[in-house]
Parts: sequence; structure tokens; C-alpha cells
Amino acid sequence: MARRRQLYEGKAKVLFEGPEPGTLVQYFKDDASAGDGAKKGVITGKGVLNNRISEFLMMKLADIGIPTHFIRRLNMREQLIREVEIIPLEVVVRNVAAGSLSQRLGIAEGTRLPRSIIEYFYKNDTLHDPMVSEEHITCFGWATPQDMDDIVALTLRINDFLSGLFLGVGILLVDFKLEFGRLYEEDEMRIVLADEISPDNCRLWDVKTNEKMDKDRFRRDLGKVEEAYQEVAKRLGILPEAGVRDLKGPEMMQ
Ligand code: C5P
Repeated sequence: MARRRQLYEGKAKVLFEGPEPGTLVQYFKDDASAGDGAKKGVITGKGVLNNRISEFLMMKLADIGIPTHFIRRLNMREQLIREVEIIPLEVVVRNVAAGSLSQRLGIAEGTRLPRSIIEYFYKNDTLHDPMVSEEHITCFGWATPQDMDDIVALTLRINDFLSGLFLGVGILLVDFKLEFGRLYEEDEMRIVLADEISPDNCRLWDVKTNEKMDKDRFRRDLGKVEEAYQEVAKRLGILPEAGVRDLKGPEMMQ
């Protein structure tokens, strides 16, 4: 098997050089981390499920005209993506109070927000991803005001669409995190959705029982983590046909 150049290894994913210029291969690991890296573990089969779930959601978003970095899924754990210049922001959208919003502002988890809130965090491990405002973002040049207009417009459309899609399968989209990148094509630059959308970076609650079906099960030691990710995939109609036993998938190819 050909060796590929590894460009980046993150907590849950690895990026390799792609087969053509301007492309990358995104590999989904089973590794999980939480609490700013304080807690580490493995969720067996997570990489396979997140690869599928993210593929499904990115393709649905592309169908409604959201530009994304996704090209196609290559195998159980890998997808081909466009190389973009990542904007160093975590864009968090909240529909229901939970997590750090509840902690920071003392708002009970589960409180419906009168309107969706967008928050920004500066992607910087050394600084522990501090929350920032649009003023910081544009002042320090992480994104321009025009970039921010595009990011907000895309984020609101993504939130509306995904909220409806998940509600259709009995899941409440409580909050989620997005990342965006700049895609350069000829003389043009476009802001596109990057990274992944999966139960690793969304809060997903069962509509009827409020049961958590996302990474909070790992963060808060609630157990049945794999089962929760599988249930999300199953409800979306994308659990691999071979079923759960097959979720380990191929080993990383280098
Ligand atoms: O922790 P917090 O409440 O700010 O998280 C909001 C949302 O962003 C959650 O869905 C969480 O999964 C996601 N998130 C993430 N990566 C981070 C921080 C938060 O995917 N580094």
C-alpha cells in the first residue's frame, strides 16, 4: 500500500495528503477526548459512524446549496475533502441551554432559548479555545467582516436545516460546533463548511425522553456511548448494513 504523507493529527481525526493537488484525505479515529484533553478514551466504532454521519449530513447540506469541503467517502474511515484554509474559529450554535452556556450563565440545562445563539471560540490549544466576539475576530484578522457575514448566514441556514432533519427522526438538536475554511478556486475565494458534523460535536437529545445521544455520554460517564452513536446513525438510516460487528473497519493506512 502506498505511503501517504500525514499532514496533521488531531484528537479525533488525521489528515493526509490527497491523491490530487487541492485534496486531502480525512481519517476518522475512535479516539475521544473531553475537558480540554483532560479526559481521553476510545469509543469503539466511533470513527466509522462519524465518517458516515458526517458524509450524510454534509451531502444533505450540499443539496440545499451549502458549500462544503466534502467530496466523497473513500472507505469506512476515510473521506476525500477539499483542502481549505481553516478559519481559526469554533462556531457554536445553541437552540437549548446546555454545557458551557449553562455553566457560564447559570441557565438550567434544557431551557429552550427564545432565539438561537451563535458563539465564537478562538481555536488555540495553548489558550484553551477562549470565547471571543466578532470584534476580536475582525480586529485580529482571523476573519474579515465579509467572511463573518458569510459565516453567520451559512450557520443560520445550517441550523434551521439540521434542526428540522433531526426533529424528523425524533432528535432535538440542542447545540453544535461548526468550522469553516477558505476555498481558493482560480481567482475566487469562498467560505465553505469544513471539519465534520457528528455526535462528537453536536448535542443530540431524544425528543421524547431527553436521553443524550452524543459525546456528553463520554464526557459525563453516562455509559452506552457506542450505542448512542449507533442509534443516531440508525435513525438517520445510515448504519452500515453489516451492522455493529463491522464497525472496527480497516486499520489506518499510511
Ligand atoms: O461545551 P459547550 O457547551 O461550549 O459545547 C457546545 C457545543 O459545541 C457542543 O455540541 C459540543 O459538542 C461542541 N464543541 C465541540 N468542540 C469543542 C467545544 C464544543 O465540538 N472544542
